[in-house]
Amino acid sequence: RVPVPALLQRPADAIVRPQAAAHPRIPLPCDLFAPERRNSRGVEFGARTALDQLLTDVKAETGDLKPIADATPDQAHAAVAAARAGFAGWSRTPAGIRAAALEQAAHLLESRSAHFIALLQREGGKTLDDALSELREAADFCRYYAAQGRKLFGSETAMPGPTGESNALTMRGRGVFVAISPWNFPLAIFLGQVTAALMAGNSVVAKPAEQTPRIAREAVALLHEAGIPKSALYLVTGDGRIGAALTAHPDIAGVVFTGSTEVARSINRALAAKDGPIVPLIAETGGINAMIADATALPEQVADDVVTSAFRSAGQRCSALRLLFVQEDVADRMIEMVAGAARELKIGDPSDVATHVGPVIDVEAKQRLDAHIARMKTEARLHFAGPAPEGCFVAPHIFELTEAGQLTEEVFGPILHVVRYRPENLERVLRAIERTGYGLTLGVHSRIDDSIEAIIDRVQVGNIYVNRNMIGAVVGVQPFGGNGLSGTGPKAGGPHYLARFATEQTVTINT
Ligand code: GLU
Repeated sequence: RVPVPALLQRPADAIVRPQAAAHPRIPLPCDLFAPERRNSRGVEFGARTALDQLLTDVKAETGDLKPIADATPDQAHAAVAAARAGFAGWSRTPAGIRAAALEQAAHLLESRSAHFIALLQREGGKTLDDALSELREAADFCRYYAAQGRKLFGSETAMPGPTGESNALTMRGRGVFVAISPWNFPLAIFLGQVTAALMAGNSVVAKPAEQTPRIAREAVALLHEAGIPKSALYLVTGDGRIGAALTAHPDIAGVVFTGSTEVARSINRALAAKDGPIVPLIAETGGINAMIADATALPEQVADDVVTSAFRSAGQRCSALRLLFVQEDVADRMIEMVAGAARELKIGDPSDVATHVGPVIDVEAKQRLDAHIARMKTEARLHFAGPAPEGCFVAPHIFELTEAGQLTEEVFGPILHVVRYRPENLERVLRAIERTGYGLTLGVHSRIDDSIEAIIDRVQVGNIYVNRNMIGAVVGVQPFGGNGLSGTGPKAGGPHYLARFATEQTVTINT
């Protein structure tokens, strides 16, 4: 029997997702360990579980990762021109048909779980747990935006007016939307951006991260198969130069981007410098995300949630915990427990079911993280450094800083920074969080309702998690996205997301 990895042994309520429950074809991690067959007395027979089957299927996926040629700037421009031609037909396609294509895409994704899990592991370095969550999130995005889109775009909204006048508001696509997505969620964020833009009636040119073009190519093929016309959706691969060629094109009507704050700024500048229509940018960027744990918090829970938030996905989530503020009175014990929990993590081959932390995305990322670790070793107190195999792996590290200001940039990897605070200095902690300029996620561990409320009231952060971990926002349940340096909003997987991809038209008729 395959051993149950610790990260999968979570309470079922932490992993049951409403949309997913209705579509059980992607197994929940807890289902994977349920015996498939039992005898008449309810006793399990045979060792075969859903997990065995899934792992066998994933292993059987042998397609190799052939290189994909980058597009040239001319090809990128040609894709915009073609998408512009495709816009007219797609924007007039009834919303119900657009939504049905997205629902079919969700269905196809689920029926090819093993294939996409294998791809996510091999191209994206995802562990089984992360690949499953990502696949589920991708399917959730398709279904959620389909459901939202039916409501928003399915019919016009009648507005009030005086007798003798009818007023109606309709929403429709803007034109060609450029979707630029990151490597850390190469399936879910890629599909989230693209399906939102398509559902709103735009045609799309998608530019995935240069590290993960194959997943994007397969996702686009799947959308075409699900019923999105080829003329409405184009893929161009390449690095930032191709993204820049797309955003500089005079005929685009919008850009949706997830990635670094620096690139979001450069897109914003490029859009502002162009003549012609004013082009909106929807940007979701990073964060220096904090968690505050006071002396009333449950240490075991803090340890578990900190390890999940800081080290799961090798810390390569924009929601991940970077700065842990611990009340001085309990700091020694908490740090010791967090280090103890981190020591249990298995780092290595993501295709091994027992692995908790896989590789970082590439050599460049590893070098950047190693340089940060080297700097921290001279400036901060090292509490924990895990073992890491040879290759593109970075071991989880825990450093204690004397003040939060020592961390000046988002460090996108499994490195946790801890700062002690005295309860009378909570205000200073909140100011330090504000001073980062980011506003993506915040964790609070406390049993004092007044403190929790005061923090929530005070801090302008997009997603706040109280007494739990702070990653893995669920589509339609925890709309995700931040403020300030963390992005423009609206929140992905939330009820206001699609509207930003559309234009509104009010028609007033004197009857
Ligand atoms: N939505 C993801 C989460 O809640 C993070 C997305 C990202 O890293 O860009 O963990």
